Amino acid sequence: MKASAFSYARATSVGNALDLLAAHGDGAKLLSGGQSLMPAMNLRLISPDLLVDIGDLVELRGIERNGGLLRIGALTRHVDLANSPEIAAHAPLLTEAIAHVAHPAIRNRGTLGGSLAHADPASELPACMLALNATIVVRGLAGERRIAAADFFTGIYETALSAEELLVAVELPVAQKDSVHFFEELARRHGDYAIVGVAAQAIVRGGAFTDLRIAFFAVGDRPVLARVAASLINVAITPAVMSNTLAVLAEELDPQEDQQASAAMRRHLAKVLLARCVAGLLDRAELAGVSA
Ligand SMILES: Cc1cc2nc3c(=O)[nH]c(=O)nc-3n(C[C@H](O)[C@H](O)[C@H](O)COP(=O)(O)OP(=O)(O)OC[C@H]3O[C@@H](n4cnc5c(N)ncnc54)[C@H](O)[C@@H]3O)c2cc1C
Repeated sequence: MKASAFSYARATSVGNALDLLAAHGDGAKLLSGGQSLMPAMNLRLISPDLLVDIGDLVELRGIERNGGLLRIGALTRHVDLANSPEIAAHAPLLTEAIAHVAHPAIRNRGTLGGSLAHADPASELPACMLALNATIVVRGLAGERRIAAADFFTGIYETALSAEELLVAVELPVAQKDSVHFFEELARRHGDYAIVGVAAQAIVRGGAFTDLRIAFFAVGDRPVLARVAASLINVAITPAVMSNTLAVLAEELDPQEDQQASAAMRRHLAKVLLARCVAGLLDRAELAGVSA
């Protein structure tokens, strides 16, 4: 199938893109890498009147470190994240996760901003933003807003962005030197969307967590920061503690059923991933085998 007829405008600046969005309201859609938008248009799931192409706005592309913050422009492509020494050094969770996003051809075009604005609950990068405690920077004609990643994703393909705003960047705290991370997803084939996945970052001192953020994806209508992680901070993690934690996680999650998996299967897989995640972060292989 082909997309319905639409008009096309190539934005010359962020201000120009915002003016076009304001003038056309819900009828306009921003175009970044096109890797989610164009398939949706070709399937006629959406039929915008106007595409506002922001691909030329170089000011939205790039990775910069400023003291304790890493700022990543919205138009930074997946391939640039994968190859960035700054990301490898200061947000290594992203380097690991990006290899699981789709396939090389898609990673060559797809952008961080597009992935976050698209807000597919099975996507890797939104969950990483939760685990990394990111701030999403958005701009509208009235100015800039900074939104905590935990408040940005509001439902399936839904975010806190209004139709007249542009996601311009993401800010991440630079990983501390004793921080550790974990990423794993269960999918039918490498590059497919996950059936269930987990992204986590922690600080471990003297064998205990002093900070722990664990985000699951493909377990609901948006990425989920596991509340149960708080109960693992500053405690000795025994198999009994772990077993109880897995049971609490199963209560906490409310996964959807679809053609890939039942809700019960997703709950089970999330528990398996949580045990592996904690074992991996603490470097204690025996915990990976604990069940609820
Ligand atoms: C076969 C296939 C497999 C895939 N597998 C995966 C996968 O495993 N994991 C995964 O995460 N993704 C996957 N994707 C999606 C891919 O990662 C996309 O690149 C990404 O989701 C969207 O990025 P984009 O730059 O292409 O955005 P676009 O397609 O250009 O835009 C997506 C949406 O975001 C909006 N948007 C774009 N940029 C902005 C902005 N700066 N501000 C506000 N709104 C904006 C657009 O209007 C549109 O609604 C897959 C895609 C394909 C085709």
